[in-house]
Amino acid sequence: MKKKIAIGLYSGGLDSILACKLIAEEDFYLILLQYKSPVFGGREDSLQLSDFLPSGGFRLQTIEMREEFIAMLQSPKFGYGKNMNPCLDCKILMAQKARQIMIENRGSFVFTGEVVGQRPMSQRKDALRIIERESGLDKHLLRPLSAQLLPPTLAEERGVINREKLLNISGRSRKRQKELAEKKGITGYPNSSGGCLLTDKSFSLRLKSILYNEKARIGLEDLQLLKVGRHFSLRPGVKCIVGRNQTENEKILSLGRESDWVFKVTDGPGPITLAKGSLQEDDFQWIASITARYSDLKGEDRVFVKRQMKGKTIGFVFPVRPATEEFLEKCKVS
Ligand code: SF4
Repeated sequence: MKKKIAIGLYSGGLDSILACKLIAEEDFYLILLQYKSPVFGGREDSLQLSDFLPSGGFRLQTIEMREEFIAMLQSPKFGYGKNMNPCLDCKILMAQKARQIMIENRGSFVFTGEVVGQRPMSQRKDALRIIERESGLDKHLLRPLSAQLLPPTLAEERGVINREKLLNISGRSRKRQKELAEKKGITGYPNSSGGCLLTDKSFSLRLKSILYNEKARIGLEDLQLLKVGRHFSLRPGVKCIVGRNQTENEKILSLGRESDWVFKVTDGPGPITLAKGSLQEDDFQWIASITARYSDLKGEDRVFVKRQMKGKTIGFVFPVRPATEEFLEKCKVS
C-alpha cells in the first residue's frame, strides 16, 4: 500500500527533529523542507536525518527564498520582533510554500516543530492561528508537539493521524523535549535552533540603516553587504562600508553596484570603502577621512584618497585629514 505523505518544515533544531520523528512513527513518508535565505540557512546540521529517520522514509528539499523574502522583510504585515525579525510573516511565507508542495504531492498535511508559548512573537496560540489562516493552510497545519492543546486538524478529525499519539507540550522549557529525545535515542542535536541573523542586534542595526524609510529598496547584494566590514551612516540614505582585511575588501568591491563609490588611499596600504546613496561634496570628504583613518597612514595630517564611481574608469584624488574617534563613534552603525 502506498504510504501517506506529510510535508514538514525542517529547521534542524530539536523541536523540528522530534516532530519529524513523531510523524514518521505514524507511518508517513516525509517530504522535509529546509529553507534558505540571505539571512539564515547557511548552517551545517549537526545531526543527519538518516540518524533518526528510517531510510527510504523521507526526502529533503531545499527551498531558496530570495526576492519574495526581501520584499516581505521590507514591509512585514505583522511587524518585527525584538530585533528586525519579522517572524510571523516569515513563517507565513514558509507555510505558503509548503502548502504548494503539499498540493503537488497530494500530502495529507503540513507539520512543523512549533511549540505553543515557546517564542513570544510567532508561537503564541493566536499567532499559530494567524499563520494557518494567512498561509491558506487552515486545518492542514499540524504541530505534533503541541497538537493536543490546539484545535484538531482535518487529518486528526478524519483519523488520518491518531491525535492520541501527538503531544501537549507548551512553554519555553525544553525539559520535555530533551526527555523525549533521550527516550527515542536521539543524541547530538544542536542546543538551540538559532542561526537567523535577523535576531542579531548588531545585524538588525545595520539592516535598519538601509531600510531608513519605506521607499528604500534593497536587493540581495545589500543584504550580503551587511555581513561584512565596518558600517557607517552619515545621514539617512548615505552610508559607507569599510573592509577589515583583504578578503572583505574583495567581497565589498564585488557586491557594490556600478553607481556606488569606491574610496582608497593612494600612498600606502588601506581598506576599500564602498559608499552608497546620493553623495554630496561633504559626504565625499567625510567618507575619505574614514578611509584614511583605517589605513596605515592614519597618523598623518594629510592623506591622499582616490574616489571613483565603481562603474567608471576615471577617479579623483584629494587630500583629507583622517577622521577622529569622536566622528567615527557618531556615525558608526554597529
Ligand atoms: S527567527 Fe528568522 S528564520 Fe525564524 S521565523 Fe523569525 S525571521 Fe524567520
